[in-house]
Order: sequence, then C-alpha cells, then structure tokens
Amino acid sequence: MDIDKKAWEILCSEGDIKKRLKELGQQLSVDYKDKKLYVISLLKGSFIFAADLVREISVPVKINFITTSSYGHDLESSGSVEIVSDITEDLTSYDVLVVDDITDSALTMKHVMEHLNKKNPASIKSCVLLDKPERRKVELVPDYVGFTIPDKFVVGYGLNYGDYYRNIPYVFIVTEEDR
Ligand code: 5GP
Repeated sequence: MDIDKKAWEILCSEGDIKKRLKELGQQLSVDYKDKKLYVISLLKGSFIFAADLVREISVPVKINFITTSSYGHDLESSGSVEIVSDITEDLTSYDVLVVDDITDSALTMKHVMEHLNKKNPASIKSCVLLDKPERRKVELVPDYVGFTIPDKFVVGYGLNYGDYYRNIPYVFIVTEEDR
C-alpha cells in the first residue's frame, strides 16, 4: 500500500493546477454566461477538482454528484461501468457539465454522458482535469481538459491508490517499482 515518497515524480504541481483551474474557470464563465450551468461531479475521484473548479466560475452554478464504480485496487478498467448513486431530477433546461478527475479508457465518461442524456438536458459537455488519450477504448474527446498527460498511472489531487493519497495536493506518477 505504501508507495515510496522519495521516488514521487510530480506531474502537476499545486501551482500548475491553480493556474490551469483559473483559466478553465474563466473559459467556463464565458461559455456558460447565458446558460443554466449544472455541474455534475463524479465521485469519488473528482471531488477535489470539482470543489476547486466551481470556485473559479463566476456565473451561477448548480452542483450535484454521481458515484460511479471505480478501479478499486486494480489499475485497469474492468470494462463495465456502474452508476452506484444517481441524481433523481429531470435535467430539462439545464446545461450539464460532467466533471471527472481523469479520462483514460473513456468508458466511464461515455457511460455517464449517455445515462444523463436520457434525462433531457438542454446541453451536455464534459470537463476533466487529466486526459490520457493514448488509452482510449471508446471514442471520446472531453470538451474541457486541464492537462493532457502520457500513459502513466497518476495519483493525488483526488486520484487514489488503494483508496489513499486522494488528499495529496498535487498529481504525481506512480512508478513501475511501486506497482
Ligand atoms: P476510464 O473509464 O476513462 O478508463 O477511467 C475513469 C476512472 O478510472 C477515473 O475516474 C479514475 O477513477 C480511474 N483512473 C483512470 N486512470 C487513472 C490513473 O492514472 N490513476 C488513478 N488513480 N485512477 C485512474
């Protein structure tokens, strides 16, 4: 469970994240100026990203959470995504922005977008802190991306390793030796 802190390679520092979130927040504030923005954050991975991101948005924003099944201790997606806890309301008239920590295979984001689309939103877009385009199993390009990253397993800033390390305030790479 313990990973060797001395070997941590920081991919996105606290400063990098703060700066990028400011830019994303400004962009979203412009894009959603005359819309009814409804942020739906996917738990658990995006709780820190979503909390920081919404505070950089200057237009009114409604916020809710959906829990999806996660990797747990595995480093690979099982291929089947489950919505463990859903929102109950109809989304008619809302401009939904699905927020997640990372898009890897994109199975999660695709499944959630299709699921929420059935609730009739006025529009639906996706926003992820990290995008790993090399690992796609289904085609999906997130609408808003914090950082495009290489095919590495990353931890921190909401992302877990064995359900720990979510509280680390930056994103770091877990090395092969640690796995
Ligand atoms: P996807 O369905 O796109 O393969 O993956 C979505 C979920 O897998 C993410 O929300 C995240 O919980 C987990 N995941 C994917 N890549 C990583 C990674 O590099 N590190 C961690 N900690 N979780 C990941």
